[in-house]
Amino acid sequence: SLEIRDLTLAFGDIEVLRNVSLSVPAGTTTCIIGPSGSGKSTLLRGINRLHEPKSGDVLLGGQSVLGVKPDGLRRRIGMVFQHFNLFPDHTALENVALAPTNVKRMPRAQARTLAHKHLAEVGLAERADHRPRDLSGGQQQRVAIARALAMEPEVMLFDEATSALDPELVKGVLDLMAGLSHSGMTMVVVTHEMHFARKVADQVVFMDEGKVVEAGTPQQIFDNPGSDRLRRFLSEVL
Ligand code: ATP
Ligand code: MG
Repeated sequence: SLEIRDLTLAFGDIEVLRNVSLSVPAGTTTCIIGPSGSGKSTLLRGINRLHEPKSGDVLLGGQSVLGVKPDGLRRRIGMVFQHFNLFPDHTALENVALAPTNVKRMPRAQARTLAHKHLAEVGLAERADHRPRDLSGGQQQRVAIARALAMEPEVMLFDEATSALDPELVKGVLDLMAGLSHSGMTMVVVTHEMHFARKVADQVVFMDEGKVVEAGTPQQIFDNPGSDRLRRFLSEVL
């Protein structure tokens, strides 16, 4: 499980997150929606401490992570970004195997076996020897997901994983994410894909101006919004 308690995060004097609290039970998926600049990416960066929070706490499996070294944390929390940042000179397999060898000090042969397993899981067993430039954007993103999975994280964070993809490639990646969700991965997904959020999320969180405005089931959030701000947001995006 992932629990965020009263998280406040600032850039200089400007508080970009204010007292954000959020509970993501193990095996569930939370989708975060909200306008541009509302703090969605910053929240994910606060969770895995790419940016150090000013106050509040983050608990992973019931334990505070604020004392954990960020490197140790990134083994336990997988992150997938809009831009997948694969190593261009390495094959898909190598891209997936690198983190387990470098970070976990796993023997190379074992890391390659693990990488094969995760590439197969994302439907790219046949593309293991391709370099990123010889893969479609959707395939590259699936390699990035396999790379995160290879660390066997407790939680996966996705930040608009499909926003940079050509429209025809979006569905494959969303289907993969839905599959992961159904398989019991604990996930926090920042997305503009409202259809995905409605279908896949156990919980939907609407953020605005650095705060959680509303959280609830997809039915509550999409069919019965409780605030004007959420109604306005939905009328713009749906
Ligand atoms: P989008 O949907 O456009 O990705 P977002 O909800 O992810 O938006 P954030 O990127 O979290 O929004 O940004 C929240 C606020 O924090 C914005 O006002 C942004 O300008 C500010 N911000 C983000 N990163 C930094 C930074 N490194 N330094 C200063 N301000 C920042
Ligand atoms: Mg963002």
